[in-house]
Amino acid sequence: MRSAIITGITGQDGSYLCEFLLNEGYVVHGIVRRSSSLERPRLLSQYNNTEIYGKRLFLHYADLSDTTSIRRIVAHTKPDEFYHLAGQSHVGLSFEIPESTCELTAMGTLRIMEILRDQPNNPKLLHASSREIFGTPKISPQDEDTPQNPNSPYGCAKAFATQMVRVYRESHGSFFCNAICYNHESPRRAENFVTRKITLAVAKIKLGLQSKLMLGSVDSARDWGYAKEYAEAMWLILQHASPDDYVLATGTSHTVREFARIAFEHVGLDWQQHVELDKRFVRPADAASLLGDASKAERVLGWKAKTHMHELVRLMVDHDMKLLASMQPMIDQ
Ligand code: NAP
Repeated sequence: MRSAIITGITGQDGSYLCEFLLNEGYVVHGIVRRSSSLERPRLLSQYNNTEIYGKRLFLHYADLSDTTSIRRIVAHTKPDEFYHLAGQSHVGLSFEIPESTCELTAMGTLRIMEILRDQPNNPKLLHASSREIFGTPKISPQDEDTPQNPNSPYGCAKAFATQMVRVYRESHGSFFCNAICYNHESPRRAENFVTRKITLAVAKIKLGLQSKLMLGSVDSARDWGYAKEYAEAMWLILQHASPDDYVLATGTSHTVREFARIAFEHVGLDWQQHVELDKRFVRPADAASLLGDASKAERVLGWKAKTHMHELVRLMVDHDMKLLASMQPMIDQ
């Protein structure tokens, strides 16, 4: 039975990847950090499954800032594959907490590579890199060869980690790979990301629980895909015969304005009646338009994004409508 470690297993991508690997027959070891709450809602169905939890899914306490604990878990579990997804994943927030973002995302990744390099069984590494390494690129669409030019603390930290993955591959022959991910969303996206903020607000406004939605720059355009498909692509990257880097993207770009318009229209509302612009939500530096070229992933791995923005918006709004409707009796009390 193959085994894998996932850092960030409680996050959006980690939870989808966990389900995918369990379905593929893996033993999965998830790294979780201590928090005041034991609730891990994205892992709930696996956690409550007595055939899975404690048999093929194990959770271990560690933190990216605690290298010894990660080293011990790796030595003990001897994984074939290591998926490094943990980190402070919010670009805007990285301007407020740049030190910890860089410490954990940049140096944290380097420390994991050092741990893996010392292992006799040479585990493969997948690093969740980001299109933020390109900053505001002069070339569109961007691919694996587009020069790095990050313009946020998050982007700088990811750029360092991405380049170090290449250095280890070239210098030590390590099977280390970057998935250079464009935005990917889902009903599991945290509520402080603009897509989920919109879909939750749409559901609340439709149900009469909220009246207005405040947004920053509605002109920013993003290449939005479905997180579940990106988790599968991460696995495919490690199954290829040789290690390499791949852009994961849909190849289509849409503005926040379009996202909001489609979300409101899906429940029969006019977005202009409910959205207000608020400068507090505009980032200090923001890429105006980003578009990924994932043709290498399609050519080499046979992976192509299937769910595009319109379908993704509807899927997220439907989920949030159901979620809030199921909570309605509690809200009414
Ligand atoms: P997410 O939902 O925010 O999940 C982040 C995960 O990292 C959570 O499990 C979190 O644990 C864990 N974590 C954070 N700090 C940690 C620490 N110090 N020690 C241990 N674990 C820590 O992010 P995501 O959307 O799944 O993204 C996964 C990865 O892909 C991230 O590295 C992100 O930067 C990258 N990425 C994502 C996108 C995207 O659009 N989603 C695009 C490009 C790159 P808690 O649950 O305890 O908070």
